[in-house]
Amino acid sequence: MDARKTKHYYEVTAGDYVCTCDYCRNYVKEISHSYPALAEYLETMGADIEKPFETMPLEPDETGHITYIGSQYVVLGSPSGFEETDISGVHIGIADSHPMTDLQEEHFVLEVSEVDLKWTIRQDT
Ligand SMILES: [Zn+2]
Repeated sequence: MDARKTKHYYEVTAGDYVCTCDYCRNYVKEISHSYPALAEYLETMGADIEKPFETMPLEPDETGHITYIGSQYVVLGSPSGFEETDISGVHIGIADSHPMTDLQEEHFVLEVSEVDLKWTIRQDT
């Protein structure tokens, strides 16, 4: 992994890939303060938790929560040296499948599973 290149990618490029649907906006809004230790962990690799490459949400439930069965983060460099881990009950591993990244440089995609967040984005009428 290359934390310096990854940090640059998140500062310059990753924001362009963040989806703007309600599910993703809710994720971006809630994830940092719900999972601060996870945010810190991703930051050590240069990744910004508020710029997911992909999220896989379920539907919000009647208690006002929503589960994301997975969310994915691009990391630049080689996956050698990366070890799967669990933080705050969330598993971080390498994604088996993910959308095309358009990146020419060596990279891999982390998958974070799963997180439970408050559903605080109001649907537009
Ligand atoms: Zn989305």
